[in-house]
Amino acid sequence: MTRKIIVIGAHAAGLDAASAARKTDRTAEITLITKEKKTAYSRCGLPFVLGGHIPTFDDLVVFPERFYKMMKLNLKTETTVTNIDPKAKTVAIQDKSGNEETLQYDNLVITTGAIPFVPPIKGREKKGVYVVRTIEDGEKINQALQTAKSAVIVGAGLIGLEVAVACLERGLKTTVVEFLPYVLPVLLDKGMADRVQKELEEKGMRIIVGKGAEEILGTDKVTGVLVGGEEIPADVVVVATGVRANVELAKNAGVELGEKRAIKTNLRMETNIKGIYAAGDCVETINLVTRRPTMSQLGTTAVKQAKVAGINAAGGYATFTGALGSWITRLFDTEIGGTGLTEFMAGRAGIETVTGTITSKTRADYFPGALPIRIKLIVEKESEKLIGAQIIGGEEVPQRINALSFAIQKEMTVRELAKAETCYAPPVCETWEPMVLAAEMVIRRLR
Ligand SMILES: Cc1cc2nc3c(=O)[nH]c(=O)nc-3n(C[C@H](O)[C@H](O)[C@H](O)COP(=O)(O)OP(=O)(O)OC[C@H]3O[C@@H](n4cnc5c(N)ncnc54)[C@H](O)[C@@H]3O)c2cc1C
Repeated sequence: MTRKIIVIGAHAAGLDAASAARKTDRTAEITLITKEKKTAYSRCGLPFVLGGHIPTFDDLVVFPERFYKMMKLNLKTETTVTNIDPKAKTVAIQDKSGNEETLQYDNLVITTGAIPFVPPIKGREKKGVYVVRTIEDGEKINQALQTAKSAVIVGAGLIGLEVAVACLERGLKTTVVEFLPYVLPVLLDKGMADRVQKELEEKGMRIIVGKGAEEILGTDKVTGVLVGGEEIPADVVVVATGVRANVELAKNAGVELGEKRAIKTNLRMETNIKGIYAAGDCVETINLVTRRPTMSQLGTTAVKQAKVAGINAAGGYATFTGALGSWITRLFDTEIGGTGLTEFMAGRAGIETVTGTITSKTRADYFPGALPIRIKLIVEKESEKLIGAQIIGGEEVPQRINALSFAIQKEMTVRELAKAETCYAPPVCETWEPMVLAAEMVIRRLR
């Protein structure tokens, strides 16, 4: 009998789940349902369209319509799943014209993603206040930036800073407001974050840390933001204060949530309800260092989980064991990335650490174009295992983050890392690989 698989959400996770299901079961009837008009575009590219690096938002659409036909995926756009009935194994859907239908499934994959979280700031409903999640959000901000002279970005996380860089590149007077004491507060330790802040300030960005946005000012349309009693003028306000897992639909169907208030799954990405799988920003995952639940909410984690969910939903066998949350960005010409735990996060998890930070060059010092690179390693004191890394540099940061991510996954000790054999040629790297130098620094401190 033909297996019926329904995937709710057709974005990073939804599309990868459906593709994996198709590759596992060539004959399954696979239906992908999404509220949005456009499917599987790169949300990650939105700030770079705003900054003018990518010509149009349509360029972010990764898969053309013919892909869905080729993969024999029954795609329903601008359609909302309004209910899941796990007993009857049905989902209720409503299209944009209001037509309702009930669809039967054998296995279901929930990839409902996340929704921007906007803190209850007075005046947040005013015209000119935006979030960045969808192409429509991007288009609205882009429109506003055509005439705006100044912008305030609330939140100095990855998305906030990427959008702030875009605003500055578009010639706006740009201010970032961060409630916590430093930028990228969940991803970097203070020393590294302060360097990022300094570089952005040198480019002309104003950054206020340790203060929240108290009020969004203006009558109907935003004119400014009140921060620590100061009125900062703004024609555009972008709130980038994180996201919350979109779990209402799943919760109403009896799907169990975990301690992070996101969908809880087993290693096969199956929920507490047999035959219902979940993946992406709506699920919690296990942190590979602490072994505790965490929210990854990265596209990379979403597609890995989704592949596993799709294979299992189509009758195959695959597992996803957890994530380190490896991340990367580029702000102007500086690449910034991290993997595993920060020193601060390790402390909060009760792990005693020793760290080492070095500054080196990306090529032989004398070679034209050599750029600075700064690496911080975080090592568990007792086991001497590497548990985290942060890098800021002019080039070659992602490859090193990936290498250090492998090292953490393989539970490499800092002494093993210090003995790693690396390559060298003046135009592309230094004789002594900076990761090895940072490991040696940690070893000196361990003594
Ligand atoms: C500006 C920005 C930059 C980013 N940059 C990066 C980056 O550089 N690297 C990285 O790894 N990650 C990045 N991310 C995060 C990445 O985009 C997300 O992790 C990824 O989109 C998660 O995919 P998902 O499919 O789980 O969820 P989503 O992308 O949220 O998709 C869920 C989909 O489900 C639909 N849906 C929800 N409920 C229903 C329903 N009831 N019926 C029908 N459809 C429904 C939603 O409309 C949505 O289309 C970025 C995100 C943003 C916003």
